[in-house]
Parts: sequence; C-alpha cells; structure tokens
Amino acid sequence: MSLDVASRSGRPGPEELVPSRYAVRVGEIDVLVVSDGVLPLPTKMLGHNADDTARAAWLNDMFLPPDAFDWSLNVVVVRSGEQVILIDAGLGLDPDLNLPRAGQLVKRLEAAGIDLGSVTDVVLTHMHMDHVGGLIVDGVKERLRPDLRIHVAAAEVKFWEAPDFTHVNMPAGFPDALRTAAKKFAQEYRSHLRLFDDEHEVAPGVVVRRTGGHTPGHSIVRLASGGDRLTFAGDAVFAVGFDHPDWHNGFEHDPEEAARVRLRLLTELAASGEQLVATHLPFPSVGRVAVEGDAFRWVPVFWDY
Ligand SMILES: [Zn+2]
Repeated sequence: MSLDVASRSGRPGPEELVPSRYAVRVGEIDVLVVSDGVLPLPTKMLGHNADDTARAAWLNDMFLPPDAFDWSLNVVVVRSGEQVILIDAGLGLDPDLNLPRAGQLVKRLEAAGIDLGSVTDVVLTHMHMDHVGGLIVDGVKERLRPDLRIHVAAAEVKFWEAPDFTHVNMPAGFPDALRTAAKKFAQEYRSHLRLFDDEHEVAPGVVVRRTGGHTPGHSIVRLASGGDRLTFAGDAVFAVGFDHPDWHNGFEHDPEEAARVRLRLLTELAASGEQLVATHLPFPSVGRVAVEGDAFRWVPVFWDY
C-alpha cells in the first residue's frame, strides 16, 4: 500500500502518517510533547547576522533547502500531582499569514484524549502568536476552566503594551500579526493571568524561569523529579543554535541578549546531561546537548516504543 493510499483512502484508520505526540516521564511527572504542526519560514531568519555563504553552507550540510523550510512547532502537556499544565498553545489560526499546516493543537489534544477542560494551568514561554495563538481561536476559551491560571512573566505582558520590533528580522506581515495576537490574548485572558517576576513554581517540580532575550519576558520551564530533569526551552534554542549559538534568529527582539541566554543555557544543559525539548526543534524534540569544540551538538534520544 502506498503512503498516498494510506493517507487519502478515506477508509477508517490513522489519519496522519506521522505521530503527533510523544510521551516522556521525568520522575513522577508525565510529559507529552504534542505537535502543533509546522511553519514554513525563509532561511534568512535562521541567522540574519551571519553571512550568506555561511548560512548556505549550514543548510547544505543539513540537507535543507536553500530558501525556506518547515520549522516544527511543539507544545508540551505536563501532569504533576493533580495539575494538568499546558506549556504554550501553538499558532492557532491566522488566515492572513497562510500557515495552514500549523494550528493543529486542539485537534491533536483531542486525539490524545486530553480535554481542554482538564487543563488547570497554562505556562507561556512568551506571547508570540505561535505560542499563544491556540488560546484565541474561536470557541477555545469557552472550553477552558473558568478558574484556569495562566502563568507568564510580568515583563512579557508589559512588553506587549508597546512592543519594540526594531531588532527583529521577520517576513512581511508578521510584526502586525504578532502585535494583534498578543493584544487579543491579553484582553481576553487578563483575569486569568498569574504574573511572576523571575521564577515561579507552578506545580511540584515544575518551575518557570524568566530568561529574557528572545522577548523581555521569555521564560523556560524546568522539570525535576526523582533525580530526572527536563528543560522546555521555548524559543531560547533553535536547530541552528547548536552549531551557531551566536546567530541571531529573526524573531528575537533583543538578539544580542538572546545569544547570551542561548550560550548559557546550552552550556548548562551540556553539563547537567538533562533532557531538552524546545518549541522549534524537529518533533518530537526530545534530546540532550553535547559540547563539540566551540559549539554544541544536538543528541536526539532514541525513541522509546
Ligand atoms: Zn516561536
């Protein structure tokens, strides 16, 4: 049977060829990485401070197309004690940006048997549309609990009141879409926000910590239980960041600081040997970091079936 037949026959069976979720356990904490889909983006955004030859060489070495490729978009669901915590919410829906392959989260949570009404907490690494957009899709808020807590850095909410886009390098249309989505999110969910300054323990072993850099309130989530550790790095690390931690990503509002954050985090993760998951690393994005010369190496885990 050809792949095409499997995906389009209309007969009962799996609708998607690629699994969209991957489970990991960190001590007593359950972690489920769920794919929100992919975002095709121009390759220039990988390192807008790098010269074109170096960028082309990296893409070639990675067997990636020269002009644009699909970035993964990963969301994580964490269960710790009685709490069900959604870390970020995917892209949602923005017809103007023509990104129909992203925004799959709600459907995929349903496929995983996770009811939106069971989510007790949301943690946002930051308020870019590809992280909050899933919450502002029509009909989603009504399905969430009235007492839902949304944890986000105070600096992030403040930033989006008057966001600075002078240091970013995004495709046309993105800055306006990001402004609109962040504003809509803040308006709709104001009463749910639980702001923290630098660090906050959301549930036993689940700590969100502000790093800044990517955005002023950008945060990472550290999980620790029974001697195991896993870090969800949000947008502090991209696929190119292991080889070129100093390359500026087009979505970074303070790229110099973002590079310092990345270098510090990768150094720390390489030393601890803990697992890393990040929003835009290839799904399921579970691996570890090794040091290689002056840079780093991404070491994916062997899938556990
Ligand atoms: Zn992102």
